[in-house]
Amino acid sequence: MSALIPPLHAMERGLGGEVNSRTLSDKLYNQFMMKDNNRHSKAASGSDFDRVRGFLLDMDGTFYLSDHLLPGAAAFLRYTGHAGIPVQFLTNNSSKSAAVYAQKIAAMGLDVPASQILTSGEATAQYLQARAPGARVAVFGTPELEQEFHRCGFTRDMQAPAYVVLGFDQTIDYAKLTRLCDLVRAGLPYIATHPDFNCPVAGGFVPDIGAIMAFVEASTGRRADVVIGKPNPHIVEMAAVRLGLPVEALCMVGDRLYTDIAMGQNAPIQTALVLSGETQPGDITDSPFKPDYVFENLAALVAALEAGTGMAGASKFSKPPSSV
Ligand SMILES: [Mg+2]
Repeated sequence: MSALIPPLHAMERGLGGEVNSRTLSDKLYNQFMMKDNNRHSKAASGSDFDRVRGFLLDMDGTFYLSDHLLPGAAAFLRYTGHAGIPVQFLTNNSSKSAAVYAQKIAAMGLDVPASQILTSGEATAQYLQARAPGARVAVFGTPELEQEFHRCGFTRDMQAPAYVVLGFDQTIDYAKLTRLCDLVRAGLPYIATHPDFNCPVAGGFVPDIGAIMAFVEASTGRRADVVIGKPNPHIVEMAAVRLGLPVEALCMVGDRLYTDIAMGQNAPIQTALVLSGETQPGDITDSPFKPDYVFENLAALVAALEAGTGMAGASKFSKPPSSV
């Protein structure tokens, strides 16, 4: 077992239920996350960018917005490809498979293999695979999440499982909720794929897994033992394993302070905020989550990498053989 992967029971008890939604008041959210952040010291600083050997990349608001690529998306892939810097896309959505996201990006004209996309569902399956390979798992999620666990060698067992996994389950009903609460109340290890309370959709929001976790907590008094997705660091550990790089060699690029940048702080790794999505420049001042670098968009980040300026140590990156 890799040093990156401590045993479940030693690491996660009591760390579940992290929140990352602006549906909570900023004060409550900040209090919770500041408390969580105190578990870690920020090892990286602005002068450490030359240690970055791989990028973790948020998708919506960073690489694309709805169905359109954002400025610099293609150039970022070209630059990192030429320079031999691996990129792993991250998404908290565990209801869809990486292949679905690869198809979405392909429809926008770029070729990104599914292996370059890590969903919180895949990360959860890999996390458990490293600790309890082949275990019997009660998976509460979409058919895609069930297939993910099947691919990783787990047996789905809703009657006598050893672990409970909760994902973004748009197929959930009262019978499923009752069974989920029964298993959690019985004390089984309880893992959630991500913590979001709501999922943004056209015209508003739909309740996400955080709302289901709140339901389970109200019924059973238990929070999840482990929450894998952003802003928690577990998905970084899984991405690092996939890339074959140490966690500290990675840099997270994203558009949300309280998920992308917070996760970077929790890992801790370097962080670059792009202002092409949710965050406005004025939001940074009031946030406990301070990025190491801020760019208008990926195009500006690529320009800084190409120029070797604007980021300390960016010149350590290899230049692409031709202009991008
Ligand atoms: Mg985003």
